[in-house]
Amino acid sequence: MKILLIEDEYRIAEALAEALRDQHYIVDIAHDGQVGWDFAKAFPYDLILLDLMLPKLDGITLCQQLRRQGYAMPILMLTAKDTSTDKVMGLDAGADDYVVKPFDLQELMARIRALLRRGIAILPPILEWENLRLDPSTCEVTYKGQQMHITPKEYKILELFLRNSHQVFNRHEILKHLWSFDEPPGEETVKVHIRSLRQKLKVAGANVDFIETVYGLGYRLKQNF
Ligand code: CA
Repeated sequence: MKILLIEDEYRIAEALAEALRDQHYIVDIAHDGQVGWDFAKAFPYDLILLDLMLPKLDGITLCQQLRRQGYAMPILMLTAKDTSTDKVMGLDAGADDYVVKPFDLQELMARIRALLRRGIAILPPILEWENLRLDPSTCEVTYKGQQMHITPKEYKILELFLRNSHQVFNRHEILKHLWSFDEPPGEETVKVHIRSLRQKLKVAGANVDFIETVYGLGYRLKQNF
């Protein structure tokens, strides 16, 4: 899952990004509202963490702008002030939730998970496909109850498929969803990760085409039921 963090305090931004990356999120950081807006238009983010007080373009205005342009991803406001005016303004501007700084990291992570479950259909806390289970709160993946040892990138690929279980993703789309803007790899990399993931799934007992190739279109989870 890809998160855009718009926060002008470098120290907070870095610490928060690190904590998010530990949870296998892909994180892009924008240090002012204008860059945040440019990023939001350019990349497919699953969630935006938005500071309220920002240079160039403040959080409330940016939030209104996003919603006006039809961006529907969840927006979680980070506010320094614990005043109800700020919260009301944030929510009225189109934010889905807010946390007050200094925030409790565990609580922030739980709120992010909750927001990411909301979609067209509300997703369950644990994502499943056949015998595969992925728990976003512990970042654990099991197949038939056995823990799978997969790399962070493989985890992200599986999560993308599980959250969009009937969708086909080509390599370019996978790159756009799962790589941050400052780590551009070739599309060949995606192929390598998929191959490794298929191998691990096979060892765990899954069919070779658990992740199937849809010729000319991309990859998706194979429906056997
Ligand atoms: Ca700020």
